[in-house]
Amino acid sequence: MEKNIASYFDQFAVPAEVVSFVDRPIGHFIDGVELDTAADRIDLIEPFTRERLTSLASGTASDVDLAVASARKALVGPWGRMPPLERQRLILRLAEAMEADADVLAHLEAIDVGKAISEARTIDVAGAIANLEYFAGWTSKLDGRTTNAVALAGETLTYTVKEPVGVVAAIIPWNFPLQILSWKLAAALACGCTVVCKPSEQTPLSAMRIAHLAAKVGFPPGVINVVNGLGHVIGQALAAHRGIDKLSFTGSTPVGKAVGKTALETMKRLTLELGGKSPVIVTGNANIDNAANAILSGIFLNSGQVCDAGSRVYAHKSIHDELVHKLRSGAESLPIGAGLDPASRITPLVSSAHRTKVLDHIDSAHAEGAALVTGEPTGSDRRGDGILRPTIFDNCSENMRIFREEIFGPVLGVSHFDTIDQAIERANSADFGLAAAVYSDNVDETVQLSRRLKAGNIYINAHGLLDPTMPFGGMGASGFGKDMGPEQLDGFLSTKSVYVQVASSSAPE
Ligand code: NAD
Repeated sequence: MEKNIASYFDQFAVPAEVVSFVDRPIGHFIDGVELDTAADRIDLIEPFTRERLTSLASGTASDVDLAVASARKALVGPWGRMPPLERQRLILRLAEAMEADADVLAHLEAIDVGKAISEARTIDVAGAIANLEYFAGWTSKLDGRTTNAVALAGETLTYTVKEPVGVVAAIIPWNFPLQILSWKLAAALACGCTVVCKPSEQTPLSAMRIAHLAAKVGFPPGVINVVNGLGHVIGQALAAHRGIDKLSFTGSTPVGKAVGKTALETMKRLTLELGGKSPVIVTGNANIDNAANAILSGIFLNSGQVCDAGSRVYAHKSIHDELVHKLRSGAESLPIGAGLDPASRITPLVSSAHRTKVLDHIDSAHAEGAALVTGEPTGSDRRGDGILRPTIFDNCSENMRIFREEIFGPVLGVSHFDTIDQAIERANSADFGLAAAVYSDNVDETVQLSRRLKAGNIYINAHGLLDPTMPFGGMGASGFGKDMGPEQLDGFLSTKSVYVQVASSSAPE
């Protein structure tokens, strides 16, 4: 292990179990075991020290073939034959194992993504466990319907049957690797599917840990597989594979569009959870303290690397100045530091390459005339580490990149409006439609705004709330299909309609 990583781990007393899990080459998890035959490797870089943590197998299409074959074998074999209540118990056992392993999982997320370990514990790990617990219960409740046919002659029996869609490919981004894996895994397993997961090549650790835990608690080999490697190799091979029945993709809009086209070549079922540029409307009737706090957590959680981050604020002119003042003092008081430091809120971005992209957006906001309220100036005056200060610009407009494009970093744009109609028109002007937030203490206003905003998730006087019972997904360029909530189950089930023509029931002579 590199010297700076070792002393970083010592400083924050990283448990030995975590060190031994990461301080080795990472392979794939296929057919119940970790295997690693890859000649090509990818360096995993720890975001705070920016040193090499370890190497990851850079898989090939033949690794995908192996994983898909194993998933198919499990689907028609032990997993497919397992009674639903037994499946339910196994999913709950995995959730219990994750609970027991929570400290390790939180460390893995903080080390892999660079995120604040306090958030990793309360959001990523706790959220993932809750998903498994919730969907475990659905395993035993996936019934079809018996219908009373209304247009058929004679005596009939008509009913529907719900069946698992088959082998699922789950492609995962790097910002919430464990939580988003759990979104896909929990519902897919509940529906009786088997899964081939492809984590981001930047953040594979928690998926590998989950695969090991699942094997330990008794999941049959092949039910959960993880194939590591580059997106355009492994992700592409999964999207094109004839043995995959359903592709559930979370990631950026451009990659999602390309993956979706490939998946349709083989008529796969498809869910696309893509990017966002979520608007936030603060009316003259808002509680400004509450709005400022929620807006700050809605944009600066995970250092802004959140798909539904509220990144465009529209403030009514009557409260605009007060709100900006509060946003500024709140942003400047957020503790900045290493992901493993329990006090940190703002931590390094996932990679130097991503930090450069975010800085490019900041430069263009300066160049296009947005007014810096706090955060990163232009030019050389910047911090020398992997962290970006929480940055707020005022006087933003829709012709600036900061109000049009997803930045995926700690950068907030603010503007003001005169009338609600103007605010809605501007909020709805983006191609994305993932989330929107409204701050107002006037109930009528909140209901009206929630109806008129174009977004899959609407937050009132809050931002970024998530619950396993609530479907999460977008509109427009943010994709289609849902993760979580009972609505997600349909994405992993096929419905068969069965018609039985019953012979005449008149008694024999
Ligand atoms: P990305 O699109 O670059 O990568 C996502 C996944 O796709 C990774 O596993 C990657 O390896 C894989 N991939 C890359 N190229 C591929 C290809 N050609 N074929 C198949 N797979 C490929 O996204 P990212 O940078 O990892 O994540 C950030 C993006 O994810 C942001 O746009 C964010 O908004 C979005 N996101 C959306 C949600 C949501 O629920 N809507 C949640 C989290 C993140």
